[in-house]
Amino acid sequence: MQIVKVLIEYANRTLNRPFSYVYKGNIKIQKGVRVLVNFNHRDIVGYVIDVEETNKTLEELESESDYRLSEIVSVIDQSPLLDKELLTLLDEVSSYYLAPKISVLQAMLPPSLSPRRSSLKAPKIAYDQYYELLEDNEEDLTNKQIELLRFIKQEKRVLKRDIKSKSVADKLFELGRITITKEEKRRLKIPDYKYENPPELTEDQKAVIKEFNESSDQVFLLEGVTGSGKTEVYLSLSEQVLNSGKSVLMLVPEISLTPMMVEYFLHRFKDNVAILHSDLTPAEKYDEYRKIAKGECRVVVGVRSAIFAPLKNIGLIILDEEHTESYKQDTLPFYHAREIAIMRGRYNKAKVLLASATPSLESRARGQKGVYHMLYLKKRINNQKLPSTRIVNMLDYNNIDRESYIFSHALRDSLHQVLARNEQAILLINRRGFSTHVNCRSCGHVFKCPTCGIALTYHKSDNMLKCHHCDYVEPYPEVCPECGEKHLLKIGFGTERIQEEVERLFPSARTLRLDSDSAKNKSKIPETIEAFRKKEADILIGTQMIAKGHDFPDVTLVGIVLADIGLNMPSFRSNERAFQLITQAIGRSGRKDKPGIAIIQTYMPSHYAITYAARQDYELFYRKEMEMRRMQFYPPYSYLASVTIRGKNEDKVIEQTYRIVDFLNEEFLDEAQILGPSTPYIPVEMGLNVRSILLKFRNPKKAHKILEKMIDLFGTNSQFELFIDIDPFNF
Ligand code: ADP
Ligand code: ZN
Repeated sequence: MQIVKVLIEYANRTLNRPFSYVYKGNIKIQKGVRVLVNFNHRDIVGYVIDVEETNKTLEELESESDYRLSEIVSVIDQSPLLDKELLTLLDEVSSYYLAPKISVLQAMLPPSLSPRRSSLKAPKIAYDQYYELLEDNEEDLTNKQIELLRFIKQEKRVLKRDIKSKSVADKLFELGRITITKEEKRRLKIPDYKYENPPELTEDQKAVIKEFNESSDQVFLLEGVTGSGKTEVYLSLSEQVLNSGKSVLMLVPEISLTPMMVEYFLHRFKDNVAILHSDLTPAEKYDEYRKIAKGECRVVVGVRSAIFAPLKNIGLIILDEEHTESYKQDTLPFYHAREIAIMRGRYNKAKVLLASATPSLESRARGQKGVYHMLYLKKRINNQKLPSTRIVNMLDYNNIDRESYIFSHALRDSLHQVLARNEQAILLINRRGFSTHVNCRSCGHVFKCPTCGIALTYHKSDNMLKCHHCDYVEPYPEVCPECGEKHLLKIGFGTERIQEEVERLFPSARTLRLDSDSAKNKSKIPETIEAFRKKEADILIGTQMIAKGHDFPDVTLVGIVLADIGLNMPSFRSNERAFQLITQAIGRSGRKDKPGIAIIQTYMPSHYAITYAARQDYELFYRKEMEMRRMQFYPPYSYLASVTIRGKNEDKVIEQTYRIVDFLNEEFLDEAQILGPSTPYIPVEMGLNVRSILLKFRNPKKAHKILEKMIDLFGTNSQFELFIDIDPFNF
């Protein structure tokens, strides 16, 4: 009999201990397979982390321990899901993030292999069938049969479904002249791209590659201005690594926003490329995953979760736009792909290349200290100038176009000129919908989401009020529910309103809008981007989605309709986020041969995040922002962890949070700043009351020990859920 220790997913997610089951069957269960077990009268999927043989009987075992041992219902996998490296990584990630192992597993495995009950309806493997020659003998065959036999002989193998004369083939098969072989089929349709010869690298690109190759450092940070040709550096390095027999992991923030990156890799490396992102069907993901695991694809291009791809013998890991927040998972286990990349790099003795025009402050500070090796691309390709920029102070009434009030004279005039020259423009407004909120003109009532408590946004296209945090919607009201007033004010503006405004001021201009409303259907995003690239529109209006790495050769104007959005958010990252967004957006202008301009409208014309972004000067911003972080004891000068407590009863949640705060105060003494308990921006989630605590500290090792102790003490109380977020982004 075997005693098996399994991890299971259970409502109380902090449950991080294995449960024991017995198995009397004759399969030798291995570590790393999934089994079906009964827990609290439900069959759930468990993940085996330990197996032990025993000669004892069930009765003996049960009398030794003081609980009942039940039997495994069934064994799901024949062989372990994770290889040695990934098993090590599982431990390392779970330990670094203080996260339950089961949650790490769920992040690591594709949905169809994940230890969840729902994954048992996993997609089956799809096959292609081929005819192959078995006996080269034309005796007694009809002419038609001989013709087909010769064809198959000549082609070596022929896809079964490509053969028109089914009956002839069937007969040959029956006679034993040909046979059928099966091969796994890849469900993801990959276009058959032509190989593209790489362009001659520029001197700057060559210098970066040389420095990278000659250094024995492990982690590199490439700071390269927008349009400096970083992609070509990724491709050259990848080619090198592949030629040396190793494999490459290329991470991008979001595939639908960067379809070009996938295309570049497919052009260069063809069938060797596997693609992993969230828009794939479970079946497609499953195929890609297995192709990687079997070593059939040695280049993986994917989003955050692809960092766990079962790629063997990794030689290089690249994170494009390393500052992007989508690399941080905002649910358990709250991991950051950069951290995992470095762990895997260490295990594989592979180099890690982080790259961005606007690196995260944490990474850039590590570069400063020599923890990461800094690389620079300071000029655009062909010495193309960075766009010239202009900040427009919207507080000054003279700057505002009286016909619009949303646009300044400068922006309106520039749009006019761009249209006259038949070039293209991008307008960035980092807020979707029509207005930001709706007020009653008479009593001031603000329409809010009943669950989240935040103001609802008006969406004109369907005349609804929508919550931008949860999926709450309601029809736009006729009157104020408080006082009956008919006149309601729509305050502020979003993408919808800007599009309407552009169409009003420039009736002949063709516009496209890109935000998460217009792109409800994910394939809409690459379609819109492609349409704009093909000049099917003159002006593209959108949220931060349009600021990412796109390369539109004909865009010569970027207008930032309101640069201040985000600057007033209560987060120490708000300056950094605003700077990154504005810089990246400006970087879309004038990338090819025509010079570009950018116009930045703002009510805070002297805010350093805006002025330095306008100057495209990352280094100045970095120094200034570092000073602010030092004064406020925020990262990179401190480490952060947040603790979130959720429960049904608000009073009890508050009490429990205070208990935890007391505990933390006692343990840390004065070695950490403990902020809270605070009520988060969204105070209620899924019907549960939320409170949180933020810790700022210098010594992560010590903090780790204290937090572990906290989990032991407070993590098992079934009335509360306790989450720890190491290096949190949102709190
Ligand atoms: P970044 O990612 O740094 O913003 P890209 O990688 O998008 O910049 O490159 C900008 C443009 O320069 C692209 O159109 C790319 O095809 C082109 N490019 C890159 N390297 C070269 C090169 N060596 N020679 C010619 N064109 C290049
Ligand atoms: Zn809501």
